[in-house]
Amino acid sequence: MVVGGLIALASADSAPWPDGQALQPVPVPAHQGPPLRVYLDAGHGAPDNPGNRGAYCQLEEGFTLALAQEVATWLEAQGGFETRISRAPGERVDYHQRVDDAEAWGADVFISLHSDVRGVGAPWTPRPDGPACPRSQDAPGFTVLWSDASPAAPASHDLGRALAEQLTAPGLPAYDGRHYGSAYDRDPDTAGLFVDRHAPGERIFVLYRPRIPAILVETHHALDDREVRQWGMPATQRVFASALAAALRDTLPPQRQARASQRR
Ligand SMILES: [Zn+2]
Repeated sequence: MVVGGLIALASADSAPWPDGQALQPVPVPAHQGPPLRVYLDAGHGAPDNPGNRGAYCQLEEGFTLALAQEVATWLEAQGGFETRISRAPGERVDYHQRVDDAEAWGADVFISLHSDVRGVGAPWTPRPDGPACPRSQDAPGFTVLWSDASPAAPASHDLGRALAEQLTAPGLPAYDGRHYGSAYDRDPDTAGLFVDRHAPGERIFVLYRPRIPAILVETHHALDDREVRQWGMPATQRVFASALAAALRDTLPPQRQARASQRR
């Protein structure tokens, strides 16, 4: 049937979420001056660290690399951005190397990409004859994490707040942090924004170590099959890229971009 076929085609690239509305990219302010260098950390893919296993038994490291590649392509096509990804397919790179690599490259900002696991999933079998995988639809949404122990803490906070707001704007849900306990504090002013409160020695390395502004994005709940499907689509990944671009343009000061040009 023609109508049904059209609907299927349309939904393949813009599935309704979360309220039956397709997500639209957010407007990105025009760029002026030299390009901003954005280091995209595809989370996990470190030695013995593939990350979580989600609702389709997919590994987090595969999702984060695919997202980093889509975001890099989108930002470069936008103009005004240079990007570098922390690892290539099949490569294992530890986190010290990533921070060193970002700073040696002259990155202006460090963006670590992840998906989250909250609580415990119940087993389901998403594919006939496939393995049982953990699923939970109780805690969807993104979070943006930053550290007040970062040398660039004020800028990290500003960037995190701007990104959380830009992700909320197109309709992505913000997670309320119910499962985080004392590990993070929720920002009182911005939905989805959290500061690292792990004990010293357990804090998130890629947040406190870089000397440049650094944030970590838990894009969705990996046990929520609805979010896994949504975030697996390039259309959603491009909406994320537009939100990141807008947040970067809004918060990284022009003098930082000027310094970036002098360095080269
Ligand atoms: Zn992760």
